[in-house]
Amino acid sequence: MIILKSYREIQKMREAGRVVAQAHQLIKGMIEPGVSTLALDLAVADFIHRKGGTSSFLNYHGFPAHTCISVNEELVHGIPSAERCLAAGDIVTIDIGVILDGYHGDSAWSYGVGEISAEKQRLFAVTEAALWDGIAQATRGNRLSDISRAVQKTVEAAGMHVAREYVGHGIGRSMHEEPQLPNYWLPSMRRGPRLRSGMTLAIEPMVLLGTHETEVLADDWTVISADHSPTAHFEHTVAITPDGPQILTLL
Ligand code: MG
Ligand code: MG
Repeated sequence: MIILKSYREIQKMREAGRVVAQAHQLIKGMIEPGVSTLALDLAVADFIHRKGGTSSFLNYHGFPAHTCISVNEELVHGIPSAERCLAAGDIVTIDIGVILDGYHGDSAWSYGVGEISAEKQRLFAVTEAALWDGIAQATRGNRLSDISRAVQKTVEAAGMHVAREYVGHGIGRSMHEEPQLPNYWLPSMRRGPRLRSGMTLAIEPMVLLGTHETEVLADDWTVISADHSPTAHFEHTVAITPDGPQILTLL
């Protein structure tokens, strides 16, 4: 069942989303060669705590950290570690989820560490463009698959690939609510529910340079591109309103 949110609930999600956006601002300033992914995680954890919130991810199905931090070929669900230090030229995705006053906000962003290659810059540009193109379709009366198709079109037109096994999602009092929101659509698939005011979705293109195939590492969490090519992931939490899509994970 898709849970529609009232104006008041959307305001609460906006407050949670603001803490997520502020945490991204904080972390962006800390990303430099030599910093460990655990140091980034702990800084976010401390910030969320000071804002009166809780990490959406800690202990979720046993996840052992406050954020997901995924480096280079790691697509999603990377586990922060004191041993994993960033190097110049790396790309790193930080996925941050916050519960504040009972409601979740969820946003991921990929960052470069120092100078990054032209190929990685293009990967970022395409993934971010796919996010905006998906958000633009999050309007009343459209179908859910209109978002999926917009994301897929932008990514595939650039010769890149969307992940198949990992999808966006409804969000609210739970981090993952119905509906699931794939980043692709095939003619054999249903077009999905009609979008209605009060629906809140985490729209999150996950993009791979080589193929769409992924693998999970032995830690049972970290998802990597099967061919070890670089990956990117950009995500916002978005509400569908009478005035069009409203991004809830903004400063
Ligand atoms: Mg996320
Ligand atoms: Mg999400």
